[in-house]
Amino acid sequence: MSDVIIEADYLITCNLTNAVIQDGAVYVVDDRIKAIGSRKHIHKDFSANVVIEGLNKILVPGLVNTHSHSVQTLLRGKADDLALIDWLQKIVLPGETSFTTDEVHTSSLLGFAEMIRTGTTTCNDMLTTKYSDYGIQAAIDSGIRTRIGKMLMDVNNGFPDDMIEHTEKIVEDVIKDIGDYHQTQKNRIKYSLNARFLLSCSPQLMKKLSEIQKNYPDIMIHTHASENREECAQVERYYGKSYIRALNELDALGNQTILAHGIWLDDVEYNLIKQTDTRITHNPSSNSKLASGICDVSKYLDMDVIVGLGTDGAPCNNNLDMFREMRLASFLQKVKHLNERVLPSKVVLKMATIEGAKALNLDKEIGSLEIGKKADLFQVDISDVNCIPLYDPISHLVYSASGKDVNMVMVDGKILFKDNQFTIIDLQNLREKATLYQNRWNE
Ligand SMILES: [Zn+2]
Repeated sequence: MSDVIIEADYLITCNLTNAVIQDGAVYVVDDRIKAIGSRKHIHKDFSANVVIEGLNKILVPGLVNTHSHSVQTLLRGKADDLALIDWLQKIVLPGETSFTTDEVHTSSLLGFAEMIRTGTTTCNDMLTTKYSDYGIQAAIDSGIRTRIGKMLMDVNNGFPDDMIEHTEKIVEDVIKDIGDYHQTQKNRIKYSLNARFLLSCSPQLMKKLSEIQKNYPDIMIHTHASENREECAQVERYYGKSYIRALNELDALGNQTILAHGIWLDDVEYNLIKQTDTRITHNPSSNSKLASGICDVSKYLDMDVIVGLGTDGAPCNNNLDMFREMRLASFLQKVKHLNERVLPSKVVLKMATIEGAKALNLDKEIGSLEIGKKADLFQVDISDVNCIPLYDPISHLVYSASGKDVNMVMVDGKILFKDNQFTIIDLQNLREKATLYQNRWNE
C-alpha cells in the first residue's frame, strides 16, 4: 500500500455543493481518495509515508480535456492563419500521413506531456489513421487517463489517398483495437470510435460504428460536427441534409456520443442534441484561430446539455493548456451575448472538471475531489506575481493563473509531474526527437 497526504491553502472540490475547504488536505491510498477535510483533521486521523505540503497552493480535481489530437503536436506552428478545409488539406492531413511510427509516438507523447504539465489528467484523444498503436502506447507511457483511438476515414473528399481506408478494414482494426486496449491499464485507457467528420466518413461506416458502440460496454463515438459554415454546406451537399440531422438519421447521436464544436445549428438540431442527450465539447481557441465562429455554450447550458471543454490539436491552438481554454471560453461568451454575467468562473471551472467528466461518462470515477474517486488531481502555486492578491481562488484558476503555475500533477495516485520535473516522461529525449522531425520537415 502506498499513501500520501496532499495539503493546500484552498481545496476546490467541484462536488455537488461546490465546497471549497480552506487549509485543507486529502488522504490518498494507492489510486483513490480515502479522506478529505481540514489539514488539521486529516493529520490527526491519518499518517502517510509522504506529505506534499500546501503553502501557497490550490488543490484542484484534474482537468478533463474533452477534445484533443495529441498526434498533431509535432505540427505546432506549421498551420497558422488558414481556414479549416485548407488547414486540413494543405498542412494537417499531409503532416499526419508523413509521420513514421516513432514520430506518431513522439508527437503524441509530446502532446500528453504538455497536457500533464498544465494540469490535464484526462483527455479524449483522436489519433491518425496510421500507426495508432504507437499513439496509444504513448498514452500508456505518459500516465495520462484517456479515451483514445485511431482516426477513422473511408471517404476521400480531397484528402491524402493513403489516409483513406476500406470500411471493412476500419471495422476489423477497430474490433481488434478494442480487444487489445479497451479498459486496460487498470481502466486508465478506454478505446474510442473516432470518426473524423462526415466529409470523410460514409453512411455505412457511421452506421457500423453505431452498432459497435452499442455492442461493447463503455465505448463512445467521438467526431467533429458543425464546426465551420463551409464544412456544413459541403455536408449538406453530400448527405442531402444538415449535419446534426444527418448524424441523427445515422443513429450516431446519444449519450455515448461526443461532438466537437457544435457551432452552426438550427433550433431543430439543438433540440436533437438535447433529446438524445448527446455531449458537446467546446474548443474556444480552435474556434477562434480557425475563425469557425463562437459556440453558443450558454444556450446549451440553458437546455441542460452537458458541455465539456477541449483544446483541440496543437496546429489550431497552438498549445494544449486548459487554463487558456477556461479563460477564453468565459470571455467569448460574454462578447457573444454582450452579457458580462454569462459563463462565470465557477461554471467554467466545472466545465473543465466534473462536467467534462460527465461529457465523457467518467464522472463516477473522476472530475471532483470526493471520497472513493480516483486520485486524479493537481496543485497550483499561487505565490507568483500573477496570483497576488487573492480574494477568490476559483477566479484565479480561470482568469489569472496559467498552466505554467501547475506545481504537482497526480493520475491514478501516481505523481506524474512535481516541482518542474516530469517523473516518468523523459523531456530531454522528447526534445531531441521533436527536433529531428522539425529538421526533416524543413528539408
Ligand atoms: Zn479536432
